[in-house]
Amino acid sequence: MRKRHWERHLTGRIGWLRAAVLGANDGIVSTASLLLGVAAANASHPAVMVAGIAGLAAGAMSMAAGEYVSVHSQADSEKAELERERMEIKTDNEAEHKELAAIYVRRGLDHALAKKVAEQLMVHDALGAHARDELGITETMSARPIQAALASAASFAVGAAMPLVVAAFAPEERLIPFVSGTSLVFLAVLGALAARAGGAPVAPGTLRVTFWGALAMAVTAGVGALFGTAA
Ligand SMILES: [Zn+2]
Repeated sequence: MRKRHWERHLTGRIGWLRAAVLGANDGIVSTASLLLGVAAANASHPAVMVAGIAGLAAGAMSMAAGEYVSVHSQADSEKAELERERMEIKTDNEAEHKELAAIYVRRGLDHALAKKVAEQLMVHDALGAHARDELGITETMSARPIQAALASAASFAVGAAMPLVVAAFAPEERLIPFVSGTSLVFLAVLGALAARAGGAPVAPGTLRVTFWGALAMAVTAGVGALFGTAA
């Protein structure tokens, strides 16, 4: 029996996994830093929690807004490119045939076969062939602003919820070591996950994320302590 050749294409999944991990990473770093900054300013536990929850909401909304705007403008430019291509196919069909055949020659087909493939694909779905092979716009990769915004906000919120839960249950006098310690562990785990998902070496990826997370938390706690004594 012919052995089935399993080849899992992870490209699409890696893309959204990495985006989710980076979003969660942002959530952990910015919310943990906020909690530490407010706690270091000697604010009461309820005040720390209110700041953390407001930080989660603000962060998730700004991620969603930023993602929606950037992906939407990508969608707009894709739409404009497709419209331009549609006009070119309509007004200069012969040149578009040649252009498509040239793309296939560059990809390794001989001239005769490239010309034949281009002809058949232009008959079948001219715009689809040019969008995919000339502009690199495919159904799977096309911009989806709403999904991107929701995914971005959700991953941020999940990340932000981690230090928030720790802050909610940590003894008030030990909140800073609890939140900073657990947040570094969360960051290390996410860093390792992102590196593994991307096929990159795990250690450098983990160290990088943990170092910058620690730095962000230390700086914010320092600012909080400074303003706390000044208040
Ligand atoms: Zn074209």
